[in-house]
Parts: sequence; structure tokens; C-alpha cells
Amino acid sequence: MSAALMPTYARLPVAFRRGCGAWLEDTDGRQYLDALSGIAVCGLGHAHPAVAEAVAGQAHTLIHTSNLYEVPHQSELGERLCTLAGLEQVFFANSGAEANEAAIKLARLYGHAQGIEAPEIIVAENAFHGRTLGALTATGNRKAQTGFGPLPEGFVRVPYNDPHAVAAAASERTVAVFVEPIQGEGGIVIPDAGYLAALRQVCDQHGWLLMLDEVQSGVARTGRWFAHQHAGIKPDVVTLAKALANGVPIGACIAGGPAAGVLGPGSHGTTFGGNPLASRAALAVLDVIEADHLAARAEALGRRILEGFREALADHPGIHDIRGRGLMIGIELTGPCAHLVREALDAGILINVTAGSVVRLLPPLILTDDEADRLVNTLTPLIANAARQLAGSTADRA
Ligand code: PMP
Repeated sequence: MSAALMPTYARLPVAFRRGCGAWLEDTDGRQYLDALSGIAVCGLGHAHPAVAEAVAGQAHTLIHTSNLYEVPHQSELGERLCTLAGLEQVFFANSGAEANEAAIKLARLYGHAQGIEAPEIIVAENAFHGRTLGALTATGNRKAQTGFGPLPEGFVRVPYNDPHAVAAAASERTVAVFVEPIQGEGGIVIPDAGYLAALRQVCDQHGWLLMLDEVQSGVARTGRWFAHQHAGIKPDVVTLAKALANGVPIGACIAGGPAAGVLGPGSHGTTFGGNPLASRAALAVLDVIEADHLAARAEALGRRILEGFREALADHPGIHDIRGRGLMIGIELTGPCAHLVREALDAGILINVTAGSVVRLLPPLILTDDEADRLVNTLTPLIANAARQLAGSTADRA
């Protein structure tokens, strides 16, 4: 890696020069099946022609219009997202962290409007919401926070997947509950079926906003447009980014009900948010997902991949759990397995290990059945081997 870059990332020693569908090609011409999509970014795969045409067409017309003026593509995208989410208004940003900052600021204004001077937002242990200061404080990863104090006040942390803990931690200063409907960085943690409905209920009871970070789980990845739709509830705020424009930077904070109308004139802003290039790319993404029924496809593919891994690995000592919803899949081992990332890379598959022991798979929604099977068949022996070693080392200790 160039010494000119701040060494903030632990990068793998590979560089890609082009991509096509679910495949990436490195600078030596070697092909890799991308089971990570840049961590849920390229839902439509690489170099999707509809996105490429939208971006090129817009670049030839107009790249940047400031938010001092009307941006018709942004308006159209906002309306499309509101319809999909059943919400009313969107603020466009440029990343997930920034979409979450908008949500946090919105919740604080909402509290101030009710006379709450020091509003508190309830957030979850193990959560990930981004690296800007507000989002970092909402994030439940101490390592990510270390060294960056003083962090902003006004966040109360509770265990994930426990609605009673939310009620117990609340105070008269509580204004919102902010969680991921499935924790991504935290290890593909899928809460119990009633969790989001219970949060909705407690928020309704007390007049708190229910805010969901769908930066990783949104845009059809889990088999629905939004992961919370599996729970049959409607939040007050949803944040999106990553897959929304298939790799072109964009973030969105979508609000409805009591959260709509909170961010008024002059309250928030960003130069590039929802610019015509990003908005056109996102509109193309929504069109393709709809036309190609990719939400349903994500669900079917997810089932196929999960069944494949369960058949091959379930009874294996050293495998703790195999879980997923749509194409958000986690294979949890009984101990650390970060070495699998490099082994999979050498085998031509891009994966990621999160929370130390969870193999995370977020393949593009355009994967073919053959590619899905190849993913399972190539990864299975690597994971089985790691699991065997973990089981062996546990047996040694016992
Ligand atoms: N929220 C969630 C749930 C995420 O997974 C991430 C990124 N991994 C973020 C927020 C931050 O997004 P960004 O990197 O675009 O700021």
C-alpha cells in the first residue's frame, strides 16, 4: 500500500482492475467471485449496464447542482423511496454515517421541540452506525471509539434483541430508539421475530421515534426492500446508503409520521447530498430491482446458500451457527477465524469475517444458481477445516 495513504485500513494485497456481474478481476487477470459486494454495496453486481448508462448519461449532461436549486432527479428519487418505505420525506447525504448523523440530529430536534433539553437516544450493544463522531458514539464497538473522546453525550446503550432493556433504560429524556433491524458488522445478528414489533409498541406508548439503520440490510438485500418489512412494522426513520446507488456514494435519511417535518429550512445540509449523478444511479438501481424482481431473487438465493451450508456444515463441531435472511448470511464458528478471509481470497472468493468468528457473506443479488453453488462448494472445505481446528483446540483444552 502506498505510504501516501493514511494506514487506516487493513487492506488485503490485491487490487482489482475491473468487474462484471458477481466477478472481479485483479491486476494480474485473476478472477474472484465477489461474495461481499464491497460489504453490501454492489447489489446489482459490478459494472451493471443500467447503472453505467445512467451515470455516463448524467456525466455528459450535468454532474453537480448544488442544493441551492431544485434537483429533479433527487425529487424523483425521494418520492420513490417514500413510496417504498411508506414514509414521507427524505434527506440525502453521501454515506451511511452521514445518513445516521441526520437521523441523530432529527431525533434531537424532535426532543427539543417537546421541551426536552438534553435528549437521549437509546442504542444497542454491538451496533455499528459509522465512524463520524455522532454515528461512532451510537456504535457499540468500544475499540472503534477508543481514543476519540470526548464523545457526544445523549446516548444510552442497552443489549440488542431485548425490548425490556429498552423500557428499563428509558428516562424522561428519551426521544428515540435507534437500532439495526439485523446487526451486520456485529456478526449478522438476527433478532427474535417479535423484537422490532415490541420496540414499535414501546415507542408508540411513549412518543419516541423508532429509527432503523438499514444501511447494510436495506435495498432488497434480505428479500424485502427493507429488512424491517419482515417484521410487519413501520419505523419513523430509516437510513440507507451502500447499495442504494450500487457503488456511487449516496445516503438517505427517510422520515415519516412524527419524524416528518422535523428538519426544517436551514437545519441541516450537505453539498453533494442527492446530486444528479448519485440520484440518477439510485433511480437506475430501483428500476432494475423492480424489473428483475431482485428482492424475491435475494430470498430464494439466500435459502439456497443457507441450505447448502447447513447440509455441508451443520453437524460439524466448531460451527456454532449458520444463519441468514436473504443475502445477509453469517456462519459463526466457535472461535476466531479471521484467517479464512485470506484463504478464501487465495481460493478466488471474496468474503469477510466480522465479530472475530463470523464468516459474513453479502453476495450481489444478481448471483446465478451456479455461482451460489460454487460459493458454497468452494468455501465449505475451508470453513470445515477451520472448524475442525477450533474443535480440536477446544478438545485439547478440555
Ligand atoms: N450503518 C451500518 C449498519 C453499516 O453497516 C455501516 C457500514 N458498514 C454504516 C452505517 C456506515 O456506512 P458508511 O461507511 O457509508 O459511512
